[in-house]
Amino acid sequence: EMSDKSAKIFVAGHRGLVGSAIVRKLQQLGYTNLLLRTHAELDLTRQADVESFFAQEKPVHVILAAAKVGGIHANNTYPADFIAVNLQIQTNVIHSAYLHGVKKLLFLGSSCIYPKFAPQPIPESALLTGPLEPTNEWYAIAKIAGIKTCQAYRIQHNWDAISGMPTNLYGPNDNFHPQNSHVLPALMRRFHEAKVSGAEEVVVWGSGSPLREFLHVDDLADACVFLLENYSGLEHVNIGSGQEVTIKELAELVKEVVVWGTGSPLREFLHVDDLADACVFLLENYSGLEHVNIGSGQEVTIKELAELVKEVVGFEGKLGWDSTKPDGTPRKLMDSSKLASLGWTPKVSLRDGLRQTYEWYLENVCAAS
Ligand code: GDP
Repeated sequence: EMSDKSAKIFVAGHRGLVGSAIVRKLQQLGYTNLLLRTHAELDLTRQADVESFFAQEKPVHVILAAAKVGGIHANNTYPADFIAVNLQIQTNVIHSAYLHGVKKLLFLGSSCIYPKFAPQPIPESALLTGPLEPTNEWYAIAKIAGIKTCQAYRIQHNWDAISGMPTNLYGPNDNFHPQNSHVLPALMRRFHEAKVSGAEEVVVWGSGSPLREFLHVDDLADACVFLLENYSGLEHVNIGSGQEVTIKELAELVKEVVVWGTGSPLREFLHVDDLADACVFLLENYSGLEHVNIGSGQEVTIKELAELVKEVVGFEGKLGWDSTKPDGTPRKLMDSSKLASLGWTPKVSLRDGLRQTYEWYLENVCAAS
């Protein structure tokens, strides 16, 4: 039925990272009847509005990519919003879709639904086997309820609702906020800004090869007091640090981008175009009770990620580490073998995906501001 390219498909959340990628994919595949509503046009937390929208529009398929999302900071600050808004959106959309004859619905969640100490890679069967990561349990509980809602409607009404759980996503329309975003867009922006400001400001004179010794002025002050207390000789006294660097080394030390944590945590990244492809694949090929993990299997340390983003952006300075920032969970790799056995594999390599995302960032975030 997804084979009918003129069937009406409601993509909820079409302006976000996920929803916008799904719209691009469906348009690419020739779907002509996409039903889209901005937040201002339709507030999905309002039950009566959602129901009359479905009654009037009668979509055939629904992809539920609308959610209240955010990084660790937002999750900690707005727990009530994260649980209540997400429960409202998904309950309203799923129930109205069922009532008004939608044939198939795809609900999307996140890897944070799994227990904090789940086996790695994490299989679908790990759901509800242990306590959650406390910082995002409000969001996670709502998403788990969404999976269970889809299962309940399938069991009670024999209705075709399925769930997909993507790993860490990145791509166009991501949030590039310096503090509140996820690691990948945060680093892309930080490297870019360091590169751009470097190009304007850092012109180094000479060949860079001369050696110089540097002493912090606080050390000098300390040495002065020390000499006043302890020295009364005829000869003057040299005050140095013994820390000698070339001018080139010095310039590179000044051009440093700081990355949070230790760099050792592992994260899996999936380009959102691959996710969109997987969503269409699941709508066409899957009608099971259990949710399906959607990962890339491309796992890197944060240090490897930082080196890769640095290379793609073309920043030539150094990496520094701020170990006062938290690492978060050491690892959260999805086991995506179920999706692979259905016949879907990702196509975008992390390096290519980063290049494409950086181009998008340059054209849409930098050019616009
Ligand atoms: P998580 O996957 O839920 O932990 O979310 P994040 O994407 O926010 O963080 C992933 C990892 O990247 C953590 O170990 C962070 O400490 C690390 N990291 C390094 N630099 C940054 C940064 O600038 N922003 C964020 N959000 N994380 C960073």
